[in-house]
Amino acid sequence: MKFFIYLLLSISINSIKAEDHHKHDHDHHHHKENEKKSLDAHEHGLSLLNLVQDRNKISFEFEMPGFDIVGFEYKAKKKEDIKKVRNALNILSEPKNMIIINAEAECKKEESEARVMNDNSHSEFISEYILSCKKISLIKNIKIMYFDSLKFSKKLKVNLVANNEKLSQVYDIKNNIINVEDYF
Ligand SMILES: [Zn+2]
Repeated sequence: MKFFIYLLLSISINSIKAEDHHKHDHDHHHHKENEKKSLDAHEHGLSLLNLVQDRNKISFEFEMPGFDIVGFEYKAKKKEDIKKVRNALNILSEPKNMIIINAEAECKKEESEARVMNDNSHSEFISEYILSCKKISLIKNIKIMYFDSLKFSKKLKVNLVANNEKLSQVYDIKNNIINVEDYF
């Protein structure tokens, strides 16, 4: 339901004409003071994943330019665009569509959320997951499914902070496995 409300907001507020040209590394500013997050500068073609261990839990936060998810960043107004955004949010709301951890660690979903944010000329999809793992020390690899699930995706920069080790690296469809043996 939350996703639907976001869509409604986007649609009703929208009076700006669709733009398909974008400046890269553009600053985004949000004017609502109570907004939990604002759009930061993003680079089209480069999504981010922040991954943090907290004891037996792992939190994942994906930040993805709309360009990487639906191929456009104007506010969805036409029926077909609204459908694309809704489909993307459905995909993003299931962690398995984005990452798969080796089964020995026995991780399961605790929370998941996906939303889209718009400003005047850019948009960003955010998805957040919390997984809890019975045997978190047995995590060896995390396979990135993002590239298979969302066809406009190109690169993903992963910032990982686990108890034993940190990692910051860029991945793509040909290099889609995060090797993290002994990290957790
Ligand atoms: Zn953008």
